[in-house]
Amino acid sequence: MDIGKITDRFDREHLWHPYASATEPLPSYKVREAHGCTIVLEDGTELTDGMSSWWCAIHGYNHPVLNEAIRRQTEKMSHIMFGGLTHEPAISLGKALMKILPDEFSHIFYADSGSVAVEVAMKMAVQYHYAKGNPRKSNFVTIRSGYHGDTWNAMSVCDPVTGMHSIFGSSLPVRYFVPSPRSRFGEEWRQDDTFPLEKVLEEHHADIAALILEPVVQGAGGMWFYNPEYIRQAVSMCRRYDVLVIFDEIATGFGRTGKLFAWEHAGVLPDIMCIGKSLTGGYMTLSAVLTNDDVAGTISGNYPYAFMHGPTFMANPLACSVARASIELLLEMDWKGKVSAIESQMKRELAPAASFPAVSDVRVLGAIGVIEMKEPVDMAWIQRRFIEEGVWVRPFGRLVYIMPPFVITPEELSRLTSALLKITREASRI
Ligand SMILES: *Cc1c(COP(=O)(O)O)cnc(C)c1O
Repeated sequence: MDIGKITDRFDREHLWHPYASATEPLPSYKVREAHGCTIVLEDGTELTDGMSSWWCAIHGYNHPVLNEAIRRQTEKMSHIMFGGLTHEPAISLGKALMKILPDEFSHIFYADSGSVAVEVAMKMAVQYHYAKGNPRKSNFVTIRSGYHGDTWNAMSVCDPVTGMHSIFGSSLPVRYFVPSPRSRFGEEWRQDDTFPLEKVLEEHHADIAALILEPVVQGAGGMWFYNPEYIRQAVSMCRRYDVLVIFDEIATGFGRTGKLFAWEHAGVLPDIMCIGKSLTGGYMTLSAVLTNDDVAGTISGNYPYAFMHGPTFMANPLACSVARASIELLLEMDWKGKVSAIESQMKRELAPAASFPAVSDVRVLGAIGVIEMKEPVDMAWIQRRFIEEGVWVRPFGRLVYIMPPFVITPEELSRLTSALLKITREASRI
């Protein structure tokens, strides 16, 4: 592998990458194009994609239907302000979302990214209690190992250790944290799992606006799948203490866990729900915050009679058009059958890793496959090895995982799982 041909000097010297050093970065490989489940590097090297560009590209890359949706909208207008104006892409996306979500979600707020959706959801919860005459209810409780984004308040509810709260010190709001549920998905429920949450709610409910969590799958905070019973109990506790519930479905939405949305595993609804990531099929950034009549009505019926948020690019028509096309594509395909086939194949093909000396756990749910190592992986080494094997997999910490596009073929998926086995076994020897 000639690394000079697939990296770029300007990029290395001037462009900052996610969670990276500006001066001593690990290589960033230069992509020429991507189509289907294939990423093509600058020198023509083809990689099978295991990441869906961080949960997003559920239909693969360069999809003719999604391309066309954007092209058509560009010819009408790429953007128009949403203050005092509206447009068909925003309206038809709203209708498409309401068709796949329960009737309780009667109001939609479009935002620019996942993190902003989380900020918006948290502001809604605080403004709801303010409107009800409880301005003191302004803090949040969440579970450890969560990930909710990188902006200030989203970061405040990320896991304090992996989210590195210590760096930001007193500039970061202090939240209530309870342990992440220990009861695994599909295994026995441990009654004591919700005790810490019950205790915090009992003692501090007067200060708490909402509980925020990722239902069933904790993503970037640890790729952990937990028992939906936790969610049922947590929601019923919050109801007793007049604490709202926010589900962050930014990673789990649109079929990834085997249900269209992860709350369906638990069968209970939150007051506020955030969606994003694969909303646009991975084409561009867009998120949405959904809520019910109670929250929307309470905020709107009391001073200042409006929700205090409004991003410049709210409901961007290009993003709304491609999002609607992506939802239609998803509903037209047998996504459930596809995700369930991916799940069975990953369960079968990743199982051998459980016996490798360096591996501590193997778990699969829906189209998410995780090999958890005992020690953090050597990123420079493992990234290069995956590329040499012709696959794109980007581990973090002790987690080597894949969440491929739903359109992946069984042969492409086998290429990913074989590379995962081969390289986690090599890691066991070094
Ligand atoms: C990625 C993610 C976010 C943040 O979304 P951005 O678009 O990166 O701001 C928030 N919550 C969850 C669960 C996520 O996976």
